[in-house]
Amino acid sequence: MRIEKGAVLKMRKRLLSGMRPTGPLHLGNYHGALANWVRLQEEYDCFFFIADWHALTSDYEKPDLIKGFSDDIMLDWLSVGLTPEQSTLFVQSHIKEHAELFLLLCMITPVPWLERNPTYKDQIEQLTTKDLSTFGFLGYPVLQAADIIMYKPFGVPVGVDQAPHVEITREIARRFNYFYGPVFPEPEVILTETPKLLGTDRRKMSKSYGNAIGMREEPAVVTQKIQTMRTDPARARRGDPGNPEKCPVWQFHQVYSNAETKDWVVKGCTTAGIGCLECKQPVIDAILAEQRPWRERAEKYLVNPKQVHWIVEMGTERARTIAKQTMKDVREAMGLAY
Ligand code: SF4
Repeated sequence: MRIEKGAVLKMRKRLLSGMRPTGPLHLGNYHGALANWVRLQEEYDCFFFIADWHALTSDYEKPDLIKGFSDDIMLDWLSVGLTPEQSTLFVQSHIKEHAELFLLLCMITPVPWLERNPTYKDQIEQLTTKDLSTFGFLGYPVLQAADIIMYKPFGVPVGVDQAPHVEITREIARRFNYFYGPVFPEPEVILTETPKLLGTDRRKMSKSYGNAIGMREEPAVVTQKIQTMRTDPARARRGDPGNPEKCPVWQFHQVYSNAETKDWVVKGCTTAGIGCLECKQPVIDAILAEQRPWRERAEKYLVNPKQVHWIVEMGTERARTIAKQTMKDVREAMGLAY
């Protein structure tokens, strides 16, 4: 970017967010977070990181999968339009300062704060196939706090259900400042209204439920997944009227279709004027159209993987410079700079 002489540079407020590399990204991830990130990078100084150490807190038995998932996620980010010119893209484990800050924050974080974390209780109950009774899993919010406050961001963009995570981060930052002096600003929760795209069976979209549509999934596979989606059970035969509210396809229309198409669905479904395959076609067309530019961008990076490597290197270098300064401030505040 060329800067004209005398131009006033506008300082952009910093935002930070990350994703755990536990599997390929799907359309739920795109509509729930990534689409918003692409918008935010226009206005804010965005730091987006791959939280690979976080993946270990629950997937510690399969660490060998994390590198591949991390590469896939970075490719997905670049495919949807996150750019190294606008955002700092990096990998958590490349910056060892995160581990040092995590350790220091562990010393001051009361255990009851972690035990009452709603996600902790929820996941222990839900993920019964994994042994999550580890120190790492309990300490997840402390690592998250270290990741966030390291860059002293103005805010963290999250959905309503993740707001308690940022609240723990704010409490930990406040406690640090109380003991050692004002080093960390408390990050704001930047609440974002994002459309919730459920899976093909109406449960939360998740690869582990087998109900997800991958972000760069082959068109034939996408088409097949939508065509075989269950619909309102009342429409057992073509001539039976149905109710879109009872059909998983309807929530896809709510994300992908305009008002006119939605009217067509409601009228056609409730009067048996259209068949379910006919109803699904606009959804298939819209998803394939959305994915086309992602696939095209991804192709360019796939033939030149070194480019992705350099983008990550560049982002990591920028993030590391800030992390080093933060840790210098932290050690000085705690009297550990010896
Ligand atoms: S017509 Fe559409 S909304 Fe109605 S049951 Fe079939 S797929 Fe679902």
